[in-house]
Amino acid sequence: MRSAAGETTQPCPQCGAEIRGDSRFTLWCAACDWNVDPEGPRAEEGRVERARRALARRHGEKLFAEVTGGGTLRARRDSAATLAYVIALAVHGVTLAAALGGVWFLVRYWGGPGMLLGLPFLLAATALRPRFARLPENKPVLLRADAPALFALVDEVAQVAGTRGVHAIAVDTEINASVMPYGLRGRRLLTLGLPLWEILGPRQRIALLGHELGHYGNGDVRHAAVVHTALRSLTTWRYVFAPVPQPTGIEILVNVVYIVPGLLVQGLLMLLDQLTLRAAQRAEYLADREAAHAGSSEAAVGLMDRLLVVDSAEILLRREVNALALSGPRSAREAENRADEVWERLTAHMASIPEHEHERQRRAGSLRGHSVDATHPPTHLRRPPARRRAPGRGRRSGRRPGPQDRRRTRRGAHRGGPPADP
Ligand SMILES: [Zn+2]
Ligand SMILES: [Zn+2]
Repeated sequence: MRSAAGETTQPCPQCGAEIRGDSRFTLWCAACDWNVDPEGPRAEEGRVERARRALARRHGEKLFAEVTGGGTLRARRDSAATLAYVIALAVHGVTLAAALGGVWFLVRYWGGPGMLLGLPFLLAATALRPRFARLPENKPVLLRADAPALFALVDEVAQVAGTRGVHAIAVDTEINASVMPYGLRGRRLLTLGLPLWEILGPRQRIALLGHELGHYGNGDVRHAAVVHTALRSLTTWRYVFAPVPQPTGIEILVNVVYIVPGLLVQGLLMLLDQLTLRAAQRAEYLADREAAHAGSSEAAVGLMDRLLVVDSAEILLRREVNALALSGPRSAREAENRADEVWERLTAHMASIPEHEHERQRRAGSLRGHSVDATHPPTHLRRPPARRRAPGRGRRSGRRPGPQDRRRTRRGAHRGGPPADP
């Protein structure tokens, strides 16, 4: 049965209660949860995945109890995270030992054939050396001089979050945002997805910056850099020790010899993953706290609710991009006007998403439990702690970035980037 534009009512096939729906979204029953999560958790997951999920849930529930149990959540490195750090240092230690071994052979047998023994060691050390991220080349990167007002805003939020600002801001087309260290000196890159920025209100933008910079305030990103580079080295080892498919002759022998080191590397990778899981979840709750601190509780919760329904925004954006591609070449001015129209349509679309779709996503998230691929706890658990902060104004004044920043950040950015983490 159809009433207003797109709105439908019909009885639930499971319990008979009346379902109010919107033809653009999944039909589900709020009374009995019928069809609340049609995609469901992935059914084909194996034993290891299931075990990881169970562990993630256990960590998550404990942490949630801690967050809501009246105790103050503090940034601290628990014993698991410390152990992860020690293992990571040991991995880098192996790389260093390989480098020193290579040099030792070179020096000891200088001029003789023994020198060649140093070669494999040096090659291994080169392949396994810790690699630091660089500034992205496939998306626009703003430095302080390019967008002074935006950087000033970031500085101000950083101060509230108890940390420094960033060195560079990259802009991309993801409905997402992230922070990461780059370069040897661990400089800071903030990546802002334009579509996400555009669908947020001024205070929600402050909350978003508060969340991202909150990751630095927790002091866990630097720590993560040591672990992350170790994970990359281990992934290289895993590649080296991977068995040759359909081996013949000598390859069979190599495969046999590689079994033990291969299993060891695989085991270390899984162990590091488990050990850092809890710290990662804790960091998200802490980052949410900074989001509420910088913006306001309402803004932090509003930001989470926006992120709940990004799939729908993604579909709309993809349609817009296709329409744009079909309409052929145009002048720079036309393109800019077109872009403004796209943002307006996107904002209107987000505003038109009914509350029952938000609620469905929250319930689906609660059914799926703590995700193991993403570090973020499900939204139904993140909302209460963020709400617990005194309601009302945040610390930041909530003005929008200056006009020259908006213009700048709107231009370009037609290439996607790697997945990020808001
Ligand atoms: Zn029902
Ligand atoms: Zn986060």
